[in-house]
Amino acid sequence: TTQNIRPLVLGNWKMHGSLAGNGQLLSAIRSAWNQSSGAAACDVGVCVPFPYLSQTESALTDSDIAWGAQDISVHAQGAYTGEVAGPMLAEFGCRYVLVGHSERRAMHGETSELVAAKAQAALAVGITPVVCVGETLAERDAGRTLDVIAEQLAPVLALGSQAVGAMVLAYEPVWAIGTGKTASPEQAQEVHAAIRARLAQAGSPGVRVLYGGSVKAANAASLFAMQDIDGGLIGGAALQAEEFLRIAEAG
Ligand code: PGA
Repeated sequence: TTQNIRPLVLGNWKMHGSLAGNGQLLSAIRSAWNQSSGAAACDVGVCVPFPYLSQTESALTDSDIAWGAQDISVHAQGAYTGEVAGPMLAEFGCRYVLVGHSERRAMHGETSELVAAKAQAALAVGITPVVCVGETLAERDAGRTLDVIAEQLAPVLALGSQAVGAMVLAYEPVWAIGTGKTASPEQAQEVHAAIRARLAQAGSPGVRVLYGGSVKAANAASLFAMQDIDGGLIGGAALQAEEFLRIAEAG
């Protein structure tokens, strides 16, 4: 963790959950985190599917756990069937929204320009965009990792230092997501250091840069100990209260 940067551990539930299951998970993490000393040292949040935002807001209001969504429209309203707008997310108390997750880049053709526009749409309603970047295995094997990250960041950094200063970034190597293959702390740190250098060039050195990709309680502390890793974006392990809390305690 970078000195003077408050870590953040954010759950990404992806397309998982049910009213009954969420109710148990949310109340378990709420009561345990409120009793934990961890809340003094680390911010925690969960990004849930849209239909569960209302349930999540009710369950987490006045707790130390924030919540958010997993996508946002670039438009504020209009004839965009199936989309969800920033002002709607704001009405449900979202503090965060993921943008540019690799699953959306790969399965929904999201370009880095669109991702930057989504980040801007979030900022326009006071929601912190968590901008996700990361290389595929083929790109890593071709030695292109840092170039890919730089390309993905370019339109985001072009929004200017005031915008970038209000964001969170997440480095998620695609080959580590949901595969059980975590980047080693050193592999992750190398990319985080490159991202930090770009952020510094862009005038926003204090932005939080999370690592994501098969983070578990067993590897969280060694990842979060690295200088430029300011917490994590947690998929599968965020669906189990005890595992998620142990990761948050490492933040
Ligand atoms: P994972 O997912 O922790 O299940 O690998 C992380 C993510 O995709 O955000």
